[in-house]
Amino acid sequence: MPARQVTSTIACLVEAAHFQRTPGLSIIVAASFLNMEEVGIVCPLLKRVVFTDLDGTLLDPATYSCEKSLDALKLLQKKETPIIFCSAKTRAEQEVYRRELHISDPFIVENGGAIFIPEDYFSFTFDYQKRRNGYKVIELGIPYNEVRKKLKKVEKELGVEIKGFGDLSGEEVAQSSGLSLEFAALAKQREYDETFIITGSEGDKEAVLRRIEEEGLNWAHGGRYYNAMGGNDKGKAVNILTELFRRKLDRVETIGIGDSQNDLSMLAAVDIPVLVQKPGNRWEDIDLTNVYKIEGVGPVGWTRAIRKLIGG
Ligand SMILES: [Mg+2]
Repeated sequence: MPARQVTSTIACLVEAAHFQRTPGLSIIVAASFLNMEEVGIVCPLLKRVVFTDLDGTLLDPATYSCEKSLDALKLLQKKETPIIFCSAKTRAEQEVYRRELHISDPFIVENGGAIFIPEDYFSFTFDYQKRRNGYKVIELGIPYNEVRKKLKKVEKELGVEIKGFGDLSGEEVAQSSGLSLEFAALAKQREYDETFIITGSEGDKEAVLRRIEEEGLNWAHGGRYYNAMGGNDKGKAVNILTELFRRKLDRVETIGIGDSQNDLSMLAAVDIPVLVQKPGNRWEDIDLTNVYKIEGVGPVGWTRAIRKLIGG
């Protein structure tokens, strides 16, 4: 059977699987029928929405460059596929990449702290908390100042030093993170979570994290830094946006691409979750049965995933 005809048959099966509300089945069906290296899965009846992590996924894990993702990004834009950033990065940081890449879709900031939706992006009305800088903002996390206040309280009570980005100069953030001075300044413009380090013994760290939880905050550990937040949820943010896209586009299939444990809730919320490799060509060990592991570190895997799933 010619490749195009096979693709069309698969597209119908994929769509059938999707509308029987067994989204994970779509990728299994497709994978079992053909070599996806050779033929992209294209279903004209379904509109795809791509949710993507930035650091180590769309962006190179060492240099933060998006150069290797450019061709696949252009492919998505040609097909008018929404590209939704879903990252720990701040609004200010994400706006740089949005401008550079000419992306004007909604985006999710600071580990699911808020969803920023450009004014007039959706023509219907929906609930949001505030308008800011040309966006309608759906807020899930508590404000940054409240997170900071709670961290200061924990620091004072336990006598263990907690150094957040709010305590550091731009130069200090650049030095410890490897970000450029420009991006360090943007990373400090936090609105919904605080990035911090704990100076102390393992016992001190455990005590701080326990007290942070008692203050009603969640925390995450991303290797170099801890993050503290209240209510931020990448998965919930993905679900809210998916519902809005269903209202806008009707038949929607969501793809999520990440590289780390902190992408788990995003990946669990999409129809097709994809994991790219980390440096050393290894996949993060995440607890998600239907995840599609693709070869290639960061943007190399990202590009391969887009080509396989979107075509072209
Ligand atoms: Mg990442």
